[in-house]
Amino acid sequence: MSIYLDNAATTPLCPEAKEAMVAALELFGNPSSTHAEGRKAKALVERVRKELAAYLNCLPAEIIFTSGGTEADNWALQASVDVLGVTKLYHSELEHHAVTHMVEALAPKIACEPIPFNEHGDHDLDWLESALAADAASGRKALVSLMHANNEIGNLVDLARLSAMTRAHGAMLHSDTVQTMAHLKLDFAATPLEFAACSAHKFHGPKGVGFAYVKQGTGIQPFIRGGAQERGHRAGTENVVGIAGLGAAFAAAMTNLEADADHMQRVKSHAIEKLRSAFPTVRFNGRSGDVDRSLFTVLNFYVPELHEGGMLNFQLDLQGFCVSGGSACSSGAVGGSHVLGGLKSPGGTRISFSRMTTKADIDAFVHALQNLPKLD
Ligand code: PLP
Repeated sequence: MSIYLDNAATTPLCPEAKEAMVAALELFGNPSSTHAEGRKAKALVERVRKELAAYLNCLPAEIIFTSGGTEADNWALQASVDVLGVTKLYHSELEHHAVTHMVEALAPKIACEPIPFNEHGDHDLDWLESALAADAASGRKALVSLMHANNEIGNLVDLARLSAMTRAHGAMLHSDTVQTMAHLKLDFAATPLEFAACSAHKFHGPKGVGFAYVKQGTGIQPFIRGGAQERGHRAGTENVVGIAGLGAAFAAAMTNLEADADHMQRVKSHAIEKLRSAFPTVRFNGRSGDVDRSLFTVLNFYVPELHEGGMLNFQLDLQGFCVSGGSACSSGAVGGSHVLGGLKSPGGTRISFSRMTTKADIDAFVHALQNLPKLD
């Protein structure tokens, strides 16, 4: 039996999502077909779209189903430059690769400017505000891309402030909200932005499905071209089963959003306390050790005597603990985590929680850390 502490990488499917997906397997019609079988599948897709829009306080037409977070992030950035005429892109070196690698691809075409951050991973929003004011004065069209919660260190950005400053200076805003969708209450009418991203597998839904939020009137063109699905915004027959699972997982998360957040906050605080008392030398990467400034799902710690040698995550795996070194996407990648590298941290282990994680899981984890077999 393993203890799963890697929920920022992916979460187990919840029973609600599984049940909705099994039922949707019967809907074999193509949502684009106008006959009865097609209409049944279409009705499901449109019902989920409407429910998601209600949770996010936006229009159903602003939800466009995609293959997940990566596609939504890639699309927002590429279309902003190639279609919407953005010539200045403010981004961060601490973003997920779904953003950083697209920024690299766009860099030859426009000015891409990294937003400065300190050793805790806090971005300098005063610097950004002055830069946006200068762009507005010189008539440059700017896009800011900053993730809502960092997947490796949990740092939260002040989305309300970003929204206000981009509105004030006529700039656009993309936020990779993959880690906060269905975890925090998001309201796109109260906090307007042009683009956001969702990935179902981060909140107990299936993999390979998500959506892009695209503000109405943005004038974006499709990233994937072909048929007229998704009102002409994203070609390809819809992933009906995946969309059913996404919708059910989102609904299940929203039913107990506050209670679940409370639970995860308590689990995280417990982990911080247990690690501090077991290992006085412990350090927390980014703001992850500060429960007010980071998302309750993520804790990234470094204990010199455990991490030196670089074998800790491997040892934990042998003991049945699923954790991550940096983000799962980069674990195993040459050079390790670009986020921890950017913070000049010597390294770290990310443990990440879901509503299914218990304090007993944390106790077992810390006990295992204290009793790791010596490596020969
Ligand atoms: N953005 C963030 C912050 C993520 O954590 C992830 C997943 O690791 C993604 C984007 C990519 O999402 P997906 O796996 O759905 O492509």
